[in-house]
Amino acid sequence: MRAVCIHGHYYQPPREHPWLGVLEGEPSAAPDHDWNVRITRECYAPNADARLLDAHGRVRGVVDNYAWTSFDVGPTLLSWMAARAPALVERLRVADAESRHRTGFGNAWAQAYNHPILPLCTPRDVTTQVVWGAREFELRFGRRPDGMWLPEMAVDVTSLEALAASGITLTMLSPHQARRVRPIGGDEASWRDVTAETLDVRRLYRCNLPSGAAIDIVFRDAAISQGLAFGELLRDGGALVERLRTVLARDDGDALLCAATDGETFGHHHQFGEMAIAYTIETLRRDPGVSLVGPAAFRALAPPRDEVEIVPNTSWSCAHGIDRWRDDCGCRVTGPPEWTQAWRAPLRAAIDWLRDELAVVFERETAGPLRDPWGARDRYVDCVVEPDRAHAFLATELRPGATRMEVVTARRGLEMARHALFMQTSCGWFFDDLAGVEGTLVLRQAGRALDLARRLGAHREEEFLDRLAAARSNVESEGSGADVYGRVVLGRRVTPERIAATAVVLDRLGERPALPGYAVTLRPGAEGVDVEVDEERTGGRDVVRVRPPAPGEPFRCEVGGVRYGVTELFLVQRERLLAHITGDAVERVRSVRHEALARVAAIIDPLLAREPVPSLELAMMLGYDEADRLAAALATGSEPLVGLKERMAALRARGVVVPARVVGRILAPRLNAAAERLPERVGDALAVLEVADAAGVVLDMGPAQIAVARWWQTARPAAPDESLARLRDRLGLSQELGS
Ligand SMILES: [Zn+2]
Repeated sequence: MRAVCIHGHYYQPPREHPWLGVLEGEPSAAPDHDWNVRITRECYAPNADARLLDAHGRVRGVVDNYAWTSFDVGPTLLSWMAARAPALVERLRVADAESRHRTGFGNAWAQAYNHPILPLCTPRDVTTQVVWGAREFELRFGRRPDGMWLPEMAVDVTSLEALAASGITLTMLSPHQARRVRPIGGDEASWRDVTAETLDVRRLYRCNLPSGAAIDIVFRDAAISQGLAFGELLRDGGALVERLRTVLARDDGDALLCAATDGETFGHHHQFGEMAIAYTIETLRRDPGVSLVGPAAFRALAPPRDEVEIVPNTSWSCAHGIDRWRDDCGCRVTGPPEWTQAWRAPLRAAIDWLRDELAVVFERETAGPLRDPWGARDRYVDCVVEPDRAHAFLATELRPGATRMEVVTARRGLEMARHALFMQTSCGWFFDDLAGVEGTLVLRQAGRALDLARRLGAHREEEFLDRLAAARSNVESEGSGADVYGRVVLGRRVTPERIAATAVVLDRLGERPALPGYAVTLRPGAEGVDVEVDEERTGGRDVVRVRPPAPGEPFRCEVGGVRYGVTELFLVQRERLLAHITGDAVERVRSVRHEALARVAAIIDPLLAREPVPSLELAMMLGYDEADRLAAALATGSEPLVGLKERMAALRARGVVVPARVVGRILAPRLNAAAERLPERVGDALAVLEVADAAGVVLDMGPAQIAVARWWQTARPAAPDESLARLRDRLGLSQELGS
């Protein structure tokens, strides 16, 4: 078998607010709310519907890249997608099932849970990361994983043992991570040293482990993978195909050519990268001499004949082994030449120290309520992925007769342990400065873990700060790690007092007093408002007395001498408040406009029939009013689209200004919905396009193009009727559609 496997490693650092569990707005991701949304739009979603173009640049088909390439999606990213883009998670699951149906083995791989450098973790944490990664995979894909991605390909024997112990049989490395090879069963003398240049990467290797277990390793083709990562092979799908064929043709026998890189390369880092992959898939699919299969399917036909010994403590992204995540090795992304990464070692030392301290706290505090604290942590992943499982989880993990307070202690301990894992996320050390987004992410996770430790009676923050003080940012004004911590954790402290106060402020503003991750109950009394703050993940409860706002300061309140106002609201609360206030104002303007027009309709209508609209203001009012009617008509189905088209055209002819973006936003979902239901709704889709034309609106036709192309590929209408052909042409799709 001659096989090609393109592997995408899809991953984002877990940037959720450590207390609230939600991703706050990230202005740098504009126009999107945050980077996960943005990269989903640019990469994760387009790879499920990657377009194939004809010679004229028109869409002639779509390819689900996930069904034809090997891929792993970071579990924390997958959790975010499950909440925010569930349809995409379903597509990934279907793609995995399709490839399993086709080749006997699914395309999806697991990943160690929150992307730590495993060789820098304690053996117990390595196990938990692997167990959690495999379990999240199982809950999402409905099967146990064959392969697991090692974050940054950072490898040592302990990590491989943990993978094997979890039933993982495959992992992926780069060729420089192999030390020597020999035939399986060979003696000591048959070992042969290899280098990145001499290792034959076109076969699988078995790695026998000290425990007696084994794991198979697929080595990626370094040159082709680099060509993908830096984009030169993605500029032209034809060039990529030729390159793959050339390497495969080098000699006879079974060969697997594996090219692996960050999945974000396909569409986010390199625009249209997903289309080059789609073209490659489409071309190779038709080549009888090449199979597009994953490493597990290849192994079933060509099992490893050789054994490999790895070079421990190496990775794919640091030429110095794994120093990038603990030392000033020189590896970096960008930034001024005088910057150093001398901050890495003290940050690593501080986090390692905290990790070990918190392990002691966890063991001591949860040994009472939990039957088996560390075993419970391994199984806690079920609650991390699906918080609703907490009840069933606790029922089996708690000792009989545990008191309510002991239950809270156990849950706080487990949450602390989770954040202690999250604070080891590799991204914190990968980039150029301590004070960057990723470095502060690590510090915020540590802050949350320390907060929970304090609730368990262990105060470690001061000592942690002493250690952080040794790490200095390259940016003079950022100061030391302790200064950064002061700003990103202490300065934005999440306390029951602040939660209670913001709830009262919101209540005074006439808003729902809510915050993600917490249930808040307000009990007004003579002395002030008693606020019950219940933390959902731990079951912990605090009651805070908030002093009512002073007269003249209705939107301020006080807790224990500290005053809170609108600016102390959490970002998620501010976002919600702004959206609501804006929404209210828009609604008021709309109803005022509608009433005014209704009052003068008897005059305007006859006049409009005869002469142009008298003023710009009136032209705009009429346009917005018509957009409202259009929205209402579409929502209720009260009026046929053809009538709307005529009215739109008539108004425009008289100089009415139709708000193009508003109308576009109203019409696009209707077009997409119709395109999803062919051939029945073809007339509806065409009617929407005609209304858009009449209104002079350019619609985003991307989703409809993909829906129609997908339908066409499956249905393959031999002689499409006139309306289908018209829709195809109107959407700018290729004549070769479905061929
Ligand atoms: Zn390095």
